[in-house]
Amino acid sequence: KGKRAFIAGVADDNGYGWAIAKSLAAAGAEILVGTWVPALNIFESSLRRGKFDESRVLPDGSLMEITKVYPLDAVFDNPEDVPEDIKTNKRYAGSSKWTVQEVAESVKEDFGTIDILVHSLANGPEVTKPLLETSRNGYLAALSASSYSYVSLLKHFLPIMNPGGSSISLTYIASERIIPGYGGGMSSAKAALESDTRVLAFEAGRKRKIRVNTISAGPLRSRAAKAIGFIDMMIDYSLANAPLQKELSAEEVGNSAAFLASPLASAITGTVLYVDNGLNAMGVGV
Ligand code: NAD
Repeated sequence: KGKRAFIAGVADDNGYGWAIAKSLAAAGAEILVGTWVPALNIFESSLRRGKFDESRVLPDGSLMEITKVYPLDAVFDNPEDVPEDIKTNKRYAGSSKWTVQEVAESVKEDFGTIDILVHSLANGPEVTKPLLETSRNGYLAALSASSYSYVSLLKHFLPIMNPGGSSISLTYIASERIIPGYGGGMSSAKAALESDTRVLAFEAGRKRKIRVNTISAGPLRSRAAKAIGFIDMMIDYSLANAPLQKELSAEEVGNSAAFLASPLASAITGTVLYVDNGLNAMGVGV
């Protein structure tokens, strides 16, 4: 029987979420995605108009099918959490049931269970500010959108995950090494995400035999990365200094996620898997 995956954080065909969806689809999984509410209309209309058809092509020549797109805002756990200005915001008012709890309920209603949960989202409103200049609100917003969002997603999806299932998030080496420019508390958020990966591996493993891992990915020119502003420099740095001197493709991260989600990785949980051409292993630039 084919597996079913829910991938949170897909709003175009440039990011890691899209590439992970493709690799999972190529391996035979059914694909559901969660798309940030303000990005939903453009994503759905682009899908419908065939704008992504070229990027939907799988290795066997068929096109990736996304069975259903769910509106999602992972900073809100349930309707009681949503403040008035968001409720009445016209980008949100057109959609419904987009808090984490409601999305999990909708997926349960529509499909019953899932096997694979992917968290491929992050947001830090002050990411371009150094940590010393980051406000409390900016810091907490980065943690809310980029770290707690994962705790919440796993918490709400765990009851509908089939035993033996797998959960994956995306992290960045700025959690453990100094990467100037990755500010606003985003480095802190990734450190929390990696620590939570270990604790959640224990809790979800004991509770439902679910594996929990995170991929520490190298630089990719995604929409989110372009907003940070230093992505081209990071790609050049990796090309010059990593053991493998090639640009990292999103597909390589997608394939690693498919491996982690597969029975080939049945004893792997609580780990940070580097998919970065080996850059993490360097101690000095060359
Ligand atoms: P991306 O822009 O494709 O993905 C980020 C997604 O998060 C977007 O679709 C955005 O709409 C969504 N999002 C933001 N706030 C949200 C919210 N509150 N609720 C729901 N969705 C929300 O960019 P990406 O670079 O592929 O990012 C995916 C993951 O990969 C992130 O965790 C990122 O930190 C991580 N990562 C990226 C790089 C890189 O160089 N691009 C490197 C390492 C790790």
